[in-house]
Amino acid sequence: MTFGIHHIIGIHRLHTGQKNYSTPLIFKSYAQWPYWQRTAFDYLFWCQFAEALNFSVALLCWLWIFPLTFPEANEWHFKWVSRVFLFNIACEFITNSFWHWITHAHRSPYAQGLLHEKKFNPINPYEEKGQHHLLREITFTTLGWLQSVFIQCIFMWLWASGQLPYYSDFWSKPFFPVFILLSVTFWRAFHFYWVHRFMHPWWSIQNGLRQGDIGAFLYRHFHSLHHQSRNPGPWSGLSMHPVEHFFYYTCTFFPLLFSCHPLHFLYTKFNTDISPIGGHDGHDKPAVGAGFHYLHHAVFECNYGSPLIDFDRLFSTYKEYVRKPSTNDKCKT
Ligand SMILES: [Zn+2]
Ligand SMILES: [Zn+2]
Repeated sequence: MTFGIHHIIGIHRLHTGQKNYSTPLIFKSYAQWPYWQRTAFDYLFWCQFAEALNFSVALLCWLWIFPLTFPEANEWHFKWVSRVFLFNIACEFITNSFWHWITHAHRSPYAQGLLHEKKFNPINPYEEKGQHHLLREITFTTLGWLQSVFIQCIFMWLWASGQLPYYSDFWSKPFFPVFILLSVTFWRAFHFYWVHRFMHPWWSIQNGLRQGDIGAFLYRHFHSLHHQSRNPGPWSGLSMHPVEHFFYYTCTFFPLLFSCHPLHFLYTKFNTDISPIGGHDGHDKPAVGAGFHYLHHAVFECNYGSPLIDFDRLFSTYKEYVRKPSTNDKCKT
């Protein structure tokens, strides 16, 4: 769940005192639609529109960086690897820093203005005395992007050296490439739930490997690092142990299973890199409004997945975030 133009405009409207800050930019009557119509729209169109930033970055990488690097990628050279690295690191710092500035920065007029009233937890985690959340989160987020760069370079080398099949003409097949592209957002939601659930206790938090609870073992040694961000901000999303990064990025490994276009891989990769920023921004709408995942950080054993593919309701781990201004977090089952 990443941030987009409508979030930026909504925050600006809120900041300037406009009452229409929650009105959609298009499909303005959305709130009055019947439930089935809103649900159909969300699953057919909105879940795709919501990933526009990730797709734009993937497209930029395909149209700009690939022509500069792919012809040399059949052999390992510093020149093409460094270009891929610089593009990715620039993406990391531009996207994270921008949303950090909008929602949390000390000198941001938005973060210090009316948007602050939309913060789930009114404390700014990056300004807590004696804490070093920002340093930890930037460090581990960068380690995540480095692992992502490494995966991208491996696939580019496998494709360019002829060791892995791929196709570069997106429209060479009439239906399959578009279907794969539209499936990415659902695949990510499905994959994220299971990888994430895998790293929480399967039975009880008290158990460990000796009691056969692999989840408790993985939580204690790896996933607990992500949960140090109990009051998350934009940099919290990829702030994970490198072992968790490995599990998390396995969603990009599908080109090993079937021949695909590099854009399929890039869209999945940049979706995996960038979408956690909005999902952890810690604010209600008109920011991203991810109360669902905020509650997971606040009370741990609930809301493991995402509302798009709602395994939490299926497995009775869903909790609804109920925001009551000027009170502490409350949740109801
Ligand atoms: Zn978790
Ligand atoms: Zn999280």
